[in-house]
Amino acid sequence: MTRSRLNEIKKLLSKYSYEYYALDQPSVSDAVYDSLMSELKQIEAAHPAWITPDSPTQRVGNKLSDGFAKVRHPRRMVSLNDVFDKDDVVAWVNRIDKLLPAENHEFFADIKMDGLACALIYLDGIFTQAVTRGDSFVGEDVTNNVRTIKNVPLRLHEAEGYEIFLRGRTEIRGEIVMLKKDFTVLNEQRRVAGKPEFANPRNLAAGTIRQLDPRLVAERPLHFRGYDIIRDNAGDVPTNSFVYQALTALGITRNKQASVFTDIAGVMNFVNEWDEKRQKLPFNTDGLVIKINDRMRFDELGLVGKNPRGAVAYKYAAEQATTIVRDIVISIGRTGAATPVAVFDPVVVAGTTVQHASLHNADEIARLDVRRGDTVVVFKAGDIIPQIEAVLVELRPKDTRPIDYPAELARQYPELKFVRPEGEAVYRVKGLSGPLILKRALKHFASKGALDIDTLGEKNVEALVDAELVRDLADIYTLAKEQLLTLERFADISAQKLIDAIAAKKQPTLERFVYGLGIRHVGAQTAIDLVNHFESLDRLAQAGLDELQSVDGVGAVVAESIVAWFADEDNAALLEKFTLLGVTPIYKVRQGELAGKNFVITGALQSMSRNQAAEKIRALGGTFQTSVGKDTTYLVAGGKVGASKLARAEKYGTKVIDELNLLNLLESSGK
Ligand code: NAD
Repeated sequence: MTRSRLNEIKKLLSKYSYEYYALDQPSVSDAVYDSLMSELKQIEAAHPAWITPDSPTQRVGNKLSDGFAKVRHPRRMVSLNDVFDKDDVVAWVNRIDKLLPAENHEFFADIKMDGLACALIYLDGIFTQAVTRGDSFVGEDVTNNVRTIKNVPLRLHEAEGYEIFLRGRTEIRGEIVMLKKDFTVLNEQRRVAGKPEFANPRNLAAGTIRQLDPRLVAERPLHFRGYDIIRDNAGDVPTNSFVYQALTALGITRNKQASVFTDIAGVMNFVNEWDEKRQKLPFNTDGLVIKINDRMRFDELGLVGKNPRGAVAYKYAAEQATTIVRDIVISIGRTGAATPVAVFDPVVVAGTTVQHASLHNADEIARLDVRRGDTVVVFKAGDIIPQIEAVLVELRPKDTRPIDYPAELARQYPELKFVRPEGEAVYRVKGLSGPLILKRALKHFASKGALDIDTLGEKNVEALVDAELVRDLADIYTLAKEQLLTLERFADISAQKLIDAIAAKKQPTLERFVYGLGIRHVGAQTAIDLVNHFESLDRLAQAGLDELQSVDGVGAVVAESIVAWFADEDNAALLEKFTLLGVTPIYKVRQGELAGKNFVITGALQSMSRNQAAEKIRALGGTFQTSVGKDTTYLVAGGKVGASKLARAEKYGTKVIDELNLLNLLESSGK
């Protein structure tokens, strides 16, 4: 990653943070902000020398606005490091273990409220001052506004065992939120009054608290929930669980869900439980806060930058993330429609790793103006297919050009011509109508090297497609004898024969199936190599460019073609249909006698065709190659071998054998 990208991200995050903290009007979601922030953290971790004090990773909040008196916090109001999964939690605990060896940690976890942090200062039990977090060192005095919040007690309650908090200075830290139901009512009123609606409860709460007119604040229902107590004498609050008991005793609202856990498994149960239930909470939340329960230990652990070591914010899977588009590849569907697909750096969205998204058509590319090298926002909710939602143009590299779609088609498919029919957004292959493409695809699917379906030859394929009994490859598995009998070509016996032949190929081997799908550039050997590497169709479908290219014989062009094929929604639907129809390709571990042996055949053989030879070699686990390379075991000479081939074989230590040797090898290995 270059330094210039780091600077661009820093600039953009500072802008977002100003909009969020100073204007209370964010222009992007928290997920987009968090995603760029974690990229920034990664870059800084790899290049610590590049960290500057003004980096968003080092600062909390934003510059303070005028209008409110400034108040210095006796104890800094910090922010928290994010964690996103169990591995992160484990890594966090391991770091703590290193600093505090031989400790049995107790963890304290609470729901993280999405509002704004505020400190309430009580002197001898009387509410005296309220201060926002500000830049963590200095906040704004918002006492008059906070006084209007109904659940903030003006005097702390007296309770046995907690008298100490009514003496001297007690600072109660917590979150000011607007409850979801209040937000809905308020927006409803604004809708009726014809006024613009507010974007979300968090920014409305923050904007309200920083209003200069307390009467306006009083009209907007805000709500305070405490999570911390600060005393001059730290020993007054030994643990976070004690803090929560004290809060309740003193009359401060706090979350009832907060709990203590003795191990990571307990914390993770809590995390998972609230992932499902959090929608039902009265306020918005984006995760949990997990802290070391013992406050002395917490203080001992100290800070790294702006974050305490003893606490983290667990963020639930977001539906948006940012990543960089590496390529835009085009796939040709079974009807001849060209579908562009963006291939990007793998990114986790809604809990799953995504590496490509369909761009649908040329209009969508133009609307987004997405280019190679662009940083984009990827959106994915639940099981839906990922989409590119927007381009962050501020992070666009200098030398990009808009995608010229017709030029891309010509470059990626030089052998084909395309047209864009009137009124359609999609380019289609010219001259080859849908049925013709389907006939080709089906012939290939049924062919000897692929599923090898008896009697499903050229004529039958033509008849089935023409009669519209087959509209895609999977349809052959739906055919009924009665349907076939409506066609002239079929009589009772021939119809039954075809049905049986198709049914016999419901569990094809995975490599034949992958080859049969007709993915451009995926020949029989590549299919075998892919299958041996990925071992399942799902894993192959999920593979990114880098992993695909790590497979022997798969280069950039082949990898792109595979990604494009699986990203095409028509193809995804086709695979699902196969599954629904009970077509389940089987992966068999290859352990034939010829496993690990690579063959090249040159010239014609007498006893069989090259394809037959290739098939026999593969059946025994060997690999059939097209040219001699450093891993070629045997060069089979079907006649005289050219000097250059011989030289290569010599160079790589490849053994040159003749047809008879090959036959012997096949026979002895087949036993
Ligand atoms: P943080 O994520 O570091 O968390 C710390 C805060 O959590 C505390 O200050 C506290 O107020 C709060 N909190 C809520 N419930 C709590 C509980 N039960 N216990 C303890 N603390 C609790 O907060 P931050 O520094 O404000 O982090 C930045 C957040 O703001 C991120 O979520 C980020 O996405 C968002 N943000 C968004 C944009 C944008 O443009 N959309 C810009 C800047 C920041």
